[in-house]
Amino acid sequence: MPELPEVETIRRDLEPLVAGRRITGVEVDPATIHLLAGAPIETLRANLVGRTVTAIGRRGKYLMFSLDDGRVFVVHLRMTGRLVWRPHDAPAEQFQRAVIELDNGYDLRWADLRKFGTWRLHESVAEVVGKLGPEPIDDSLTLKEFRARLANRTAPVKAVLLDQRRFAGLGNIYVDEALYEARIRPDTPARKVSPAATKRLFASSRSVLERGIENRGASFKDYVDGQGEKGSQHMHVQVFRRTGKPCYRCGSTIQRTVVGGRATHFCPRCQPKARVKAAPVG
Ligand SMILES: [Zn+2]
Repeated sequence: MPELPEVETIRRDLEPLVAGRRITGVEVDPATIHLLAGAPIETLRANLVGRTVTAIGRRGKYLMFSLDDGRVFVVHLRMTGRLVWRPHDAPAEQFQRAVIELDNGYDLRWADLRKFGTWRLHESVAEVVGKLGPEPIDDSLTLKEFRARLANRTAPVKAVLLDQRRFAGLGNIYVDEALYEARIRPDTPARKVSPAATKRLFASSRSVLERGIENRGASFKDYVDGQGEKGSQHMHVQVFRRTGKPCYRCGSTIQRTVVGGRATHFCPRCQPKARVKAAPVG
């Protein structure tokens, strides 16, 4: 599933191509029912056609197209959504479900194997992202606030990091990588993570996302960038989907478990169980 680095790569690819372009047509395969959440295609078309895209932003995993009437067209790729730039006469993408036509002979093509992706029109950005937590790559996120967002949580630290209301943009891949880098066992209750480990996690949750962006995202399966090309971050992961392979740091066998309902990968030696205080004797 695309996470912050993948969505940011698409944003950076598409913004210089799409900003300033006017939308001239919108087509949606009527079988793609989740895409518009049941809203009629005619309504979306009436709202988009004739509008100019002024900028493309991103918050968490949401891609946000600002329109010249002040509204914002919001795309979420969910599991297998793809948004690619193609000449209008190019052949259809595999699993193509929708097309946004632009005034210069190019399209934004929407392909989605699993059909969980969403397109929504909002009056303002705040409507979309008001509930999202800060992003680990945001310079304004301090260690103090990072700590506060983990504190007093009995849930596994991995589950807290995945909760988009606490931290936006992290998903299964980058959380496993960040916890490995910080040497924290993913199932450790968040409130049991030591101050020193929290500081390491603050740094690693940022660095794994930054590296993911540098490598243009991770293409384990479906993700492609705004030109339809794969990223390379999947070739640089330390633990994610490396079950049974040796840890690059210590040689131990990477293990797989389930935390918060999600497949989880860790090194049993580099990420030891949190020490539990011995019960008082007598
Ligand atoms: Zn190790």
